[in-house]
Amino acid sequence: MKEKKKDIRALSKEQLREFFVSNGDKAFRGNQVYEWLWSKACHSFDDMTNLSKATREMLEANFVINHIKVDQMQKSSDGTIKNAVKLHDDLTVESVLIPTYSRTTACVSSQVGCSLDCQFCATAQLKRMRNLNADEIYDQVVAIDQESRTYHNMPLSNIVYMGMGEPLMNYNNVLASIEKITSPEGLGMSPKRITVSTSGVPKMIKRLADDEVKFNLALSLHSAIQEVREQIMPFSKNFPLTDLREALEYWYSKTKRRVTYEYIVWEGINDRQQDIDALIQFCKYIPCKVNIIEYNPIDDGKFQQGNDQAIASYMTQLEANGIVVTLRHSRGKDIDAACGQLANKL
Ligand code: SAH
Repeated sequence: MKEKKKDIRALSKEQLREFFVSNGDKAFRGNQVYEWLWSKACHSFDDMTNLSKATREMLEANFVINHIKVDQMQKSSDGTIKNAVKLHDDLTVESVLIPTYSRTTACVSSQVGCSLDCQFCATAQLKRMRNLNADEIYDQVVAIDQESRTYHNMPLSNIVYMGMGEPLMNYNNVLASIEKITSPEGLGMSPKRITVSTSGVPKMIKRLADDEVKFNLALSLHSAIQEVREQIMPFSKNFPLTDLREALEYWYSKTKRRVTYEYIVWEGINDRQQDIDALIQFCKYIPCKVNIIEYNPIDDGKFQQGNDQAIASYMTQLEANGIVVTLRHSRGKDIDAACGQLANKL
């Protein structure tokens, strides 16, 4: 049986150099190919024009380039763009470009589907099929950077890992993708412009701290009361708030960087005074910021956003306690591109 060709982008620069040497060629060919693959985001060996035809054919015979393909692009009336991204094995994920007047943000997926069970999230209704590899995450960013240049005349300024999936359940590949995004041989972006959002996996938050990562961390908190959180995010039975608190304290002790808590206010779920009190208490553990997110209704959703007064109560009381709080308005709702709406509805 013919051996399956290897994805050339799984090779490091050093491995590419070794490949050429072992094939009787010069090591620097490896550098050239690496540059084509990464800084030039090349999808085909044929396009590597500074290589001889024989070299290109040799690469073709040995490797494939498993590049993603933006299969479909939808534009919202507010300028948000949603990409349906086809992977080499025909699975699909979604990524989003969110423009404001001064910057553009890419929201990328880290898994196909999700293994968690947040009751308010459309992606949670899809089975987790597999993790994305580092290249597939990186490619989403490159594609959105190009869209940002084409449609908004500026390079991509920020990246949030808030698309489909739980980034910390795909730890190695997420970190490898950020390595590539921040490397001068990739996009050379500052890690300060990258935010990884987690539903809260304590062990992995500690690992991030140990790995001394330089990007920002956001936590989807949604309730600081264990029983309430278990009701809306059942998996959190296994990751109780007490463990989460300890992990966050560890994160702060190591990184000295504040965490953003994402929080949706729902009617009849977390719109009571005791919910606000619990959040204020939770915010005292480490320096943090609260981002109140508008709820985007999903199919079969049992949830309803809390009323304006409930949201205002949260905001004024958090502020009165010296906690920085912002309100995030949803973008791209008309094309199912807003937070929690990514569900491959093509
Ligand atoms: N799994 C990660 C990242 C993906 S979700 C996480 O949980 O953080 C990205 C953000 O969207 C999270 O804060 C999540 O709680 C929020 N979200 C999920 N469903 C939503 C919905 N229907 N409306 C608004 N925000 C939602």
